[in-house]
Amino acid sequence: MQITAAVVQELHGPFVVRDVELDEPGPGEVLVKVAATGFCHTDGIARHGDLPFPVPGVLGHEGAGTVAAVGPGVTSVHEGQAVVIGWPSCGACRNCQDGEPRYCLRLGEAIVGGHRLDGPSALRTRDGEPLASHFFGQSSFATYSLTTESALVPVPEGLPVEMMGPLACGLSTGAGAVFHTARPLPGASLVVYGVGTVGLAAIMAATNSPATTIIAVDRHASRLRMATEMGATHVVDATDTNVVEAINDICGGPADLALECTGVISVVRQAVDSVGMRGTCILIGGAPAGAEFSVDHLSTLWGKSIVGTLGGSGRSLRLIGGLMGLYAQGRFPFDRLVEYFPLERIEEAVEASYSGDVIKPVLTMPN
Ligand SMILES: [Zn+2]
Ligand SMILES: [Zn+2]
Repeated sequence: MQITAAVVQELHGPFVVRDVELDEPGPGEVLVKVAATGFCHTDGIARHGDLPFPVPGVLGHEGAGTVAAVGPGVTSVHEGQAVVIGWPSCGACRNCQDGEPRYCLRLGEAIVGGHRLDGPSALRTRDGEPLASHFFGQSSFATYSLTTESALVPVPEGLPVEMMGPLACGLSTGAGAVFHTARPLPGASLVVYGVGTVGLAAIMAATNSPATTIIAVDRHASRLRMATEMGATHVVDATDTNVVEAINDICGGPADLALECTGVISVVRQAVDSVGMRGTCILIGGAPAGAEFSVDHLSTLWGKSIVGTLGGSGRSLRLIGGLMGLYAQGRFPFDRLVEYFPLERIEEAVEASYSGDVIKPVLTMPN
């Protein structure tokens, strides 16, 4: 079938909105008419080759829309149903079987393989030249996305489907890190380094936890203001402050939990140093491929944990479903972060995201 997509023709090249061909759904596959897709920094990283997604191809991994058609054997969703397209996974490996599909042993292939997990690409140009598809199992910078039944999360009646896509990645990543990995105890102190989409999601999640000290650290005053509006009890502007000292002042000693959302190696060290004995530093932000960090050995021996988390851990159905429920109750107000751009203005959306003018640009698809 013919669809419209934003195609990356070459590494570092622009997104070119053009008509392309997409396969019809096969067994276990679902065709989703995309309403809107969030732009995430991971899309930018892939466009520049820092994630090995083949080009030419179609990116986009925070899509939501309505089911347009289902392939043979699909039973859990039906035509016309509103859905978020969650992360792909094989469903069969040890980690998938353990209920941790974010750590699917075939993850690399599933998110950047450029084709179906067990089959060829689903996209090609109108002249029949192959295009990489299935970025994060969806390639949703397009009017239609071909995905798998197991990735889909139904959107409850009454919620705006065009806004729900970002719950598939950035927002689940930050919120899941709090709910699944940090799990603050009553009265806990929690520091969030970097308050873009992921960090702000962590702060909104923390307000739904028994943590009572929620500290946002960033260099942008506008983001720190937003963090306060989202429930941060304290903010630290890292521009000209000794951040670790500032945290110790606020908490009366080291913090219990630090969430590192920047991927900047010097900040990783600050995050590790800002938690104390039995404290936990959670690594969330992606550093450039090959980056390494070092920590103080002795103070790490004192019961400190440093742990990485991917995509918020857990299962899409429960995590994204839970966040939609919290949003509906006014307890996860991520609508405040979202600004819409039509697909043709994708370069503007990217620019607004990089400059920090817009925290979560969402691309709406032409009808
Ligand atoms: Zn798996
Ligand atoms: Zn993402």
